Amino acid sequence: MSEKGEGDARGAGQHLDIRALHTLSSNGSEALRLTVYCERRGHSMTVEDCERCERCTDVVMDPTGQRSHLVCTGMDVVEPPPELAGRIGKVYPAARGAVSSLMARNVACVRPGVTLEELGAFFGDRVVVDAPVVAADGRLLGMVSKLDVQREQGRGPTPGHDVTAAGIMKSVAFTLRETAPITQAAALMAYEGVQRMPVVSNEDVVVGLVSSIDILRWLARQDGYLEPGSPELSDVDEHS
Ligand code: SF4
Repeated sequence: MSEKGEGDARGAGQHLDIRALHTLSSNGSEALRLTVYCERRGHSMTVEDCERCERCTDVVMDPTGQRSHLVCTGMDVVEPPPELAGRIGKVYPAARGAVSSLMARNVACVRPGVTLEELGAFFGDRVVVDAPVVAADGRLLGMVSKLDVQREQGRGPTPGHDVTAAGIMKSVAFTLRETAPITQAAALMAYEGVQRMPVVSNEDVVVGLVSSIDILRWLARQDGYLEPGSPELSDVDEHS
């Protein structure tokens, strides 16, 4: 993938959030998969594929991963709803009301063969409490939690039995498609008692994670309570 821009560089067109899937393998290597959702084609694409499209005019990689985006001139632009006029810039149908607009876009995953020891280091280095277990192509296989890893570590080693992510992962009862409405995420969390859910593409490839706190932040934003440092606040600064 090439970087067509740096930092705050901006081109005309829709800024599509780049989602980053960091996947740890059992040999200690980490694979990075970058995707965006193409509304025109109706599915997720790798940034590499998107860059070949004539409508892609820029790719901006933010070192923090928070604001990495691809600029696409192929989307229909609509004006923001009246209650948000002046607070945010132009909005786009795909980004409005979809769970992908508020999910965490930097997701740390593991492959099924990652060992208990490697899982201990993985969770020790991060603040996350769980992680998707994914196939080589990013498809969701299950979830492994820090608690399960700690519980397994507490049992001590069993001779001749190597514990791996595949052995302790839990199957996933609920997932959300990236185009699912935010209200669907809220309903699942409220009625099924789920705190965090993987968000997947049409092909079941993990593209993000959404939590109940993401929904609460979204609710607050609807009434104008913008998070400090949020992209919307920066947009207001830039347009004022
Ligand atoms: S640049 Fe092309 S492939 Fe990428 S999102 Fe836009 S229309 Fe889709």
